Amino acid sequence: MPKLTVNDVNVRGKRVFVRVDYNVPMAEKDGQMVINDATRIKETLPTLKALIAGGAKTILAAHLGRPEGKRDPSLSLRPVAAKLADLLARPVAFVDDCVGEKVEKTVEALKEGDVLLLENTRFYAEEEANDVAFSTRLARVADIYVNDAFGAAHRGHASTQGVASVVKARGGICAAGLLMDRELKFLGDELESPARPFVVILGGAKVSDKILVIDRLLEKADTILVGGAMAYTFRLVQGYKTGKSLVEPDAVSVAARALAKAADRGVRFLLPSDNVIATPVDSGKLNKKGKPVFEFQNARLNSSLDIPDDAEGFDIGPETAKRYAEVIRQAKTILWNGPMGMFEDSRFAAGTNEVARAVVDATQKGGAKSIIGGGDSVKALNQAGMGDKVTFMSTGGGASLEFLEGAELPGVVVLAEKR
Ligand code: AMP
Repeated sequence: MPKLTVNDVNVRGKRVFVRVDYNVPMAEKDGQMVINDATRIKETLPTLKALIAGGAKTILAAHLGRPEGKRDPSLSLRPVAAKLADLLARPVAFVDDCVGEKVEKTVEALKEGDVLLLENTRFYAEEEANDVAFSTRLARVADIYVNDAFGAAHRGHASTQGVASVVKARGGICAAGLLMDRELKFLGDELESPARPFVVILGGAKVSDKILVIDRLLEKADTILVGGAMAYTFRLVQGYKTGKSLVEPDAVSVAARALAKAADRGVRFLLPSDNVIATPVDSGKLNKKGKPVFEFQNARLNSSLDIPDDAEGFDIGPETAKRYAEVIRQAKTILWNGPMGMFEDSRFAAGTNEVARAVVDATQKGGAKSIIGGGDSVKALNQAGMGDKVTFMSTGGGASLEFLEGAELPGVVVLAEKR
């Protein structure tokens, strides 16, 4: 059932408490924190413009980084208020706290259409503890609760869940923001009864991270294409040699079950038939965490299903990429989560890029709906300059995965349904 959105609610003159995802990358420059990428701020603009046009008094709450319940000036949201004011072309007030008298006084002075950003909610340990008293303090300035922070909706924290429960218990409305609404539509409703063929592309590092998603999608997909390091755990199940590739021996039994389920249900489950491999060599250096840094030497094509003992698989090979691209170009619905290789290194990015091109072609020429399920596949598409050529890119990482697994996200469950 779709959720109520800000467009369904009369917000005029109301204090609307909006949880947003402003966990933006920042770096220090000349003694000041500057925002490196404002995408997350831009993505909230449709919701904020709707609230402003509707005459709401908008109060924004967000977290930034991991201050562990302590005030940390380098994790202040103040630079975000300035950036948001630029983007909205109107003033955005900022209070250096998220609860208390200062917040309440500032809210009292807000007029219809005004916007206020509160300080990082994680400066209080009570935020992540979902403390009821803290949620009640946050809710003192909320007539209506809106959640537009899909990327944080898998967390049951005070600002994502607790404050909504307080507002709801008082008979107040809890609604989805427009970004949240799009996430629920594409990752949820659109995949309920997808146009066929429905092709799922799964990659990334670990099978264990994605096994629940694989299990659920085996009930919906026509074809599953597997790449990334996770492919090697499946090859291990089949008795092939995986050399020094990143495999998860502990996940062999769940991977075997997934292969059996695919066969049982008649889902085509494709694994790479060739790979780009390299030889890892200890550089003698240590990284920031004190772990040895490896250099990957002699990157080369391996056309056998077995990987040599001294080598590690880092990308799908050209034959696999071509085979996957052909399947993708026939698809009418595509869901992609996880890169096909270690795409951050250009020697191992070709497979991911070829798959990205096929997804874009299927979308632009074949009329397919393409949904990119968050995390590193979004990064890879943007790196290849194709981010705006797919139907939808999720803004969530962990939240997208949990949602695709079919989990009920605490930040979503509390929102009212459309009647
Ligand atoms: P995930 O967060 O599970 O989607 O994993 C994404 C990460 O997996 C990226 O940082 C990739 O570099 C990494 N990755 C993908 N394929 C491989 C591979 N064959 N070996 C090692 N790392 C990989």
